Amino acid sequence: MKLFNTLTRRKEEFVPLEEGKVRMYVCGPTVYNLIHIGNARPMIIFDTVRRYMEYKGYEVNYVSNFTDVDDKIIKKAIEEGVSAEEVSARYIAECKKDMAGMNVKPATTHPQATQEIDGMIDMIQTLIDKGYAYAAADGTVYFRVKKFKEYGKLSHKNLDDLQSGFRALQVSGEDQKEDPLDFVLWKPKKEGEPYWTSPWCDGRPGWHIECSVMSKKYLGEEIDIHAGGEDLIFPHHENEIAQSECCNGKIFAKYWMHNAFLNIDNRKMSKSLGNFRTVREISQQYDLQVLRFFMLNAHYRSPLNFSADLMEASKNALERIVEAASRLKDRVAAAQTEASGEEEKALLKEAEAFTAKFEDAMDDDFNTADALSAVFELVKFANTNVTEGSSKEFAGALLAQLVKLCDVLGLIVEKKEEILDKEIEDLIAERQAARKAKNFARADEIRNELLEKGIILKDTREGVKWTRA
Ligand code: AMP
Ligand code: ZN
Repeated sequence: MKLFNTLTRRKEEFVPLEEGKVRMYVCGPTVYNLIHIGNARPMIIFDTVRRYMEYKGYEVNYVSNFTDVDDKIIKKAIEEGVSAEEVSARYIAECKKDMAGMNVKPATTHPQATQEIDGMIDMIQTLIDKGYAYAAADGTVYFRVKKFKEYGKLSHKNLDDLQSGFRALQVSGEDQKEDPLDFVLWKPKKEGEPYWTSPWCDGRPGWHIECSVMSKKYLGEEIDIHAGGEDLIFPHHENEIAQSECCNGKIFAKYWMHNAFLNIDNRKMSKSLGNFRTVREISQQYDLQVLRFFMLNAHYRSPLNFSADLMEASKNALERIVEAASRLKDRVAAAQTEASGEEEKALLKEAEAFTAKFEDAMDDDFNTADALSAVFELVKFANTNVTEGSSKEFAGALLAQLVKLCDVLGLIVEKKEEILDKEIEDLIAERQAARKAKNFARADEIRNELLEKGIILKDTREGVKWTRA
């Protein structure tokens, strides 16, 4: 299995630190809002990496954090007049719902920064003791970048270039730093902000130290894979390397994987441009499996442009797989013969080539687009070769093969009767119209139809509310 390592800028053979095991850390979202489809890209990609590793027989310890203390969370809490904790707890719960919808497996551990402050204080103290960090007069603790000779090795940035860039950007108030490149490990509290006591001042951790500490606690000092979106290469991951390697005296992560960005209308999708779409919005229009398919149909290191056309194409393509699986299931149920004949045995042997092709694609730096092509070849093969006369064993084996490969990609091929939010809302509107027209029979019919699909309606003074049972 080969993967592209940002550190060496080459595709490398994957050799785990410990045989049969993978220790993997993926930087998770800052929880102050519903996640957008850009955030969904690393979730889907690295969940697929994990699934493929598991398929290959590795035991994967997968850790992905929630950043639950941050300026944006505090700002939102102040706007709403609630605590930062309330904001982050709400959006962690919402994020987990979206992950479930996209069939992203829960991590082995989902640590939260605010639960790990002691570990952060310990690591910062060690860095100070070793001379890699210093506290300024106001209690801010900085990392002494120049002391770490390998700084820049991940982003392939040269310290001198960085320095001149930073000098131009240097802002007032930062003059307590020994060097403009130094970054914050701990900062003093501001009025109304959450804070923790520390040997330096009441305050809170910088963002980078969180991941170094959580990775160490749940995976150990050396890990196999550290991953995230490419915007994290610098400074976040560069700083994580500096902190962890200076503290532990060991190589932090062997392989660094980064997904390219998801764009919209060929522009970077971002909150500030106002052009982002939340996963929740997409879920009102599509089954989130379609979003997953859309992401997997491109290589993770290529920029991907979100468009309605591509989503429609993904929907149709996914439907072809689901239909094929459904047809195979019908054939298994209706088969007249049990065991496969000689001809069918030969065909099954032939079909093994699709699995081999799938694995070759995935072994080549997780080329999910090519892996999907292999799945479509299998679909075509099954559609052509499974007929009314096919045996149960033959149709069943092809179905099992299809389900297994799709499962590695996290695609659920079982036909779901699930009803989308938009369909529910349309039916509710129709019910309201029926009531207005005094067509109570139709109104009741709609209520019952929704109930059968697990949707409970409640008439309130503010209008009709619905919940999933
Ligand atoms: P954040 O909440 O901004 O820290 O982002 C969480 C994760 O989503 C990180 O791995 C980011 O790199 C990734 N991410 C954010 N926006 C995008 C995007 N438009 N495309 C791909 N990945 C993104
Ligand atoms: Zn991180």
